[in-house]
Amino acid sequence: MIIQNWFTIINLPVCTLVPISTSKLYIGLIILLLLSSKILAGEISGVASITDGDTIKIFNNDKVKIIEKKVFKRDYKIQRIDGLPKKQVTPPPEVYARIKKDNKMIGNARSINTSYDFFKNKFILPLDKYVITGVYGSQRILNGKPRSPHYGVDFHAPEGTPVKAMMDGEVTLAEKNMYYTGGTIIFDHGHGISTLFMHMKDVNVKIGQKVKQGEIVGTLGKSGRATGPHLDIRLNWFDIKLDPASLLEIF
Ligand SMILES: [Zn+2]
Repeated sequence: MIIQNWFTIINLPVCTLVPISTSKLYIGLIILLLLSSKILAGEISGVASITDGDTIKIFNNDKVKIIEKKVFKRDYKIQRIDGLPKKQVTPPPEVYARIKKDNKMIGNARSINTSYDFFKNKFILPLDKYVITGVYGSQRILNGKPRSPHYGVDFHAPEGTPVKAMMDGEVTLAEKNMYYTGGTIIFDHGHGISTLFMHMKDVNVKIGQKVKQGEIVGTLGKSGRATGPHLDIRLNWFDIKLDPASLLEIF
């Protein structure tokens, strides 16, 4: 496929960015790449669906070829986690309303579209010392029940470890106790690109607050559905879940 009318493309590792086999996610990948160039969201046009093995070609207005990459499906790990409290795997009916409310708040925050262009810069890791305990795309089987794939990267570190914003942004959600995600922060980096931290012990920012890259925004915890202290980070382009590892030097 050919995508026209874009000018510059950043050096993201395209093949590692490609998430899951739906065309929606492929489109998300490409749009992320394109947004990461100097182009604004309104100028995007002509995106078609892509399937495994397709070659992406991107041209600028002068028909100068900028990028040509083959896109492949990735293989993902299956992770089994047993011994979770039953109520966390299959939530009891009395918390359905709370989960629905949490999801709506997260969905609203992720749908925010601003003209910030912070996302173009290089993201940093939220922790200095960590062990990666979960990767994007792996499927979890919780107490024997298959769940949807894990869309984050998990960093294990001691509870209470300060957590840093990975990029400049504006806080669009700051909640201390969501059912699944516990202490949760969402940062808007512009044009629908957001990052999310979950399971925080302390949330030290408020909605509407502007944060700088490297600023301490809270501490690592095990709140929500977590088996132990860790920071789960997410990268989204609106409702499309991308691999945070594609922006970070961790593997
Ligand atoms: Zn996780």
